[in-house]
Amino acid sequence: MKHPKPRHTAFGAVLALAFAAPWTWPAFAQTPVLPGAVPVASDASASAAVAAQQFTLSNGMTLIVQPDRRAPTAVQMVWVRVGSLDEVDGTSGVAHALEHMMFKGSKTVKPGEFSRRIAALGGQENAFTTRDYTGYYQQIPATRLEDAMKLESDRFANNQWPDLEFQREIEVVKEERRMRTEDQPRALLGEQQNAAVFNASPYHRPVVGWMSDLDAMTPDDVRDFHRRWYVPANAAIVVAGDVDVAKVRAMAETYYGRIPARALPVRKPRIEPEQRGIRRIEFKAPAEQSYVSLAFRVPQFNPDVLRPAAAGGAAGTMPAASPQSDDALALVVLSALLDGYTGARLERHLTQGPDRVADSAGSYAGFIGRGPQLFMLEGVPATGKTPEAVEAALRAEIARVARDGVEAAELARVKTQWVASETYKRDSVMAQARELGSNWVQGLPLDADARLIERLQAVTPAQVQAVAGKYFGDDQLTVATLRPLPPEKNRRARGFAAPAGDLR
Ligand SMILES: [Zn+2]
Repeated sequence: MKHPKPRHTAFGAVLALAFAAPWTWPAFAQTPVLPGAVPVASDASASAAVAAQQFTLSNGMTLIVQPDRRAPTAVQMVWVRVGSLDEVDGTSGVAHALEHMMFKGSKTVKPGEFSRRIAALGGQENAFTTRDYTGYYQQIPATRLEDAMKLESDRFANNQWPDLEFQREIEVVKEERRMRTEDQPRALLGEQQNAAVFNASPYHRPVVGWMSDLDAMTPDDVRDFHRRWYVPANAAIVVAGDVDVAKVRAMAETYYGRIPARALPVRKPRIEPEQRGIRRIEFKAPAEQSYVSLAFRVPQFNPDVLRPAAAGGAAGTMPAASPQSDDALALVVLSALLDGYTGARLERHLTQGPDRVADSAGSYAGFIGRGPQLFMLEGVPATGKTPEAVEAALRAEIARVARDGVEAAELARVKTQWVASETYKRDSVMAQARELGSNWVQGLPLDADARLIERLQAVTPAQVQAVAGKYFGDDQLTVATLRPLPPEKNRRARGFAAPAGDLR
């Protein structure tokens, strides 16, 4: 995030949750739908009435427009397919540092001026960096979209600032690392766990970067990264709101289309080798409670599965079946079964009753991404219970599904919750823009969500039982355990925060 102090508005909080996952839908697994949160159906059908349209500008940049005329507002987002995944050793954190520097001016706009001008338009804006992508957005009155496009296209093409601005801002970035990682025992543990899970994959580095890399970062590291990756063919503009598609297309061609086309650098594969045995991380830090996190390597969903005529199929036919993608879908269902709604299995079996083993427990199925995916289980032991007991209880829940299977009624309930959360998610123009952008960045077609709902609805109890028995052995597991130390003197012991993943 470009702002040194996060904005504590309801708006920001909702975004923080929604952006927490690389792909928006499985985020539901960590964000139970609360009773009463389901909107009336007519809102959703109104927003879905006009389909989004996708274009390629003359320089190769993608434009996606989603009209929604219910309120006189518009969202502009720019999605760049570059994140910490594209960094190399020694300059970790540079994608995020660049996100900060994008607010520091261009050839014609002075440092800080971008945000002042957006505010003067009556807009709100921010940015985010993840492992897979970087994004920038403004919500403005729909009549001011052209002004926002002028500003955003200018900094995409002409980001420019004196060294002194970088030297100030890198201190802001380091402070962000201190606040969000180094002062948060769980976030530090998560960083260590990632570094242990991934060897060849760049996912082993934290998005914010290692502190020594931030200390050593130079202005030219950032400028080089911008020159290399911020090319038209590597970005999509998403506009949602009270707009006319043809007018948006013409404006996009005027402001973005004139940015010179440049070749994208070749991306090296950096394939993660197979894991062949359990890994364990012990981590000691001042903390009030212990904590345990289990990461299982799982297959990821292949976006091509949703494209007709992909994989060499004839035009108009569905692509060949993908057992791996089917398993990835079934794992998402498994996670929702464990932790997808209030009163789901982990809550019922681990955190309730006089003998409860955990104060909290959760699961999360990584599903789609530019790098390898994980299925996460985590828990905070209850008073008098050990992390080992929580670890055993979490694994017992998976074993129970593998052994006893799942009732069709329970599965139906999970699916109903999904449809409700999907409907709710589509209600705001911001959410629509975010969904379209994240689908594009992950290589999914525009209508991916409707098709994914279909695919997920089709997952059977037998498939869920099968994946529970297939992917949760020792050999693909990395366990990270936080062992609390007494609070340090002269420093307030902080409670737990969610592990720092994506940054804003
Ligand atoms: Zn930041």
